[in-house]
Amino acid sequence: MTDSVAALAALLRACRRGVVFTGAGMSTESGIPDFRSPGGIWTKMMPVEFQDYISDPEARRVSWQRRFEMEDTWNATQANDGHRCVAELVAMGKVSHVITQNIDALHQAGGVPDDKVIELHGNTRYAKCLDCGMRVEIPDIRAHFDIHGDGPDCAACGGIVKTATISFGQPMPEGEMARAQAASLGCDLMLVLGSSLAVYPAASFPLLAKQNGANLAILNREPTPQDRYADLVVNAEIGPTIRAVVQAL
Ligand code: NAD
Ligand code: ZN
Repeated sequence: MTDSVAALAALLRACRRGVVFTGAGMSTESGIPDFRSPGGIWTKMMPVEFQDYISDPEARRVSWQRRFEMEDTWNATQANDGHRCVAELVAMGKVSHVITQNIDALHQAGGVPDDKVIELHGNTRYAKCLDCGMRVEIPDIRAHFDIHGDGPDCAACGGIVKTATISFGQPMPEGEMARAQAASLGCDLMLVLGSSLAVYPAASFPLLAKQNGANLAILNREPTPQDRYADLVVNAEIGPTIRAVVQAL
């Protein structure tokens, strides 16, 4: 066992109520590229901003086109061993909540109960009406798009339908933000897995936990701007490292 694995296992053993905070690095081992690594999504296409989505039908058309191009990828992706380890920590009672920036729903696929996952940036596997919140399924939107060349308006209220993700410029979801705040204030260990901790306000939650007296541990391939506040920083691959940690508990 390496010193890092032993140190992370010791923090988890000592904690009574941990919270896991994840970013795109959690899912690279499932084959989903992260944003900021070389070759990541940002280097290939600019995201559509929320204001453009609202005001410009062409932006909506481009968004749906891109989303449908990803459909096979999303459907083929599976939870990886890191996701399974996080689910084991939840099942053991070590971790109360998983706060995630990911939109891939792979924590739930890995076995974390729905009510313990807080999706700060939403979920790409379905869509919602921006006005009344009604859920719309992606295949139904695709069927409309294939006939009409654009996405449907909400069948209930005529509002604009969008994937249930939070785009740049879109207000953060109030319920999730409140739950994430409560979880961060209630934990005695905040474990960050695979986040550059560069996207705010999401990245404020590890700091909030630390300021409130929790230990902060960061497991990420590269350094992050919050390393200086952390009690433990491990620069390693998530899957094999967290598996070794869980086995050491
Ligand atoms: P990010 O891309 O900014 O950072 C990911 C971090 O994970 C990087 O520092 C990288 O070094 C590290 N990393 C990558 N693979 C790793 C591995 N196997 N082991 C250890 N570390 C690894 O991601 P972010 O902080 O989540 O912010 C990007 C934004 O993009 C988020 O807001 C998120 O909503 C969105 N996003 C989501 C997905 C997804 O749902 N899977 C994918 C891409 C982007
Ligand atoms: Zn509606």
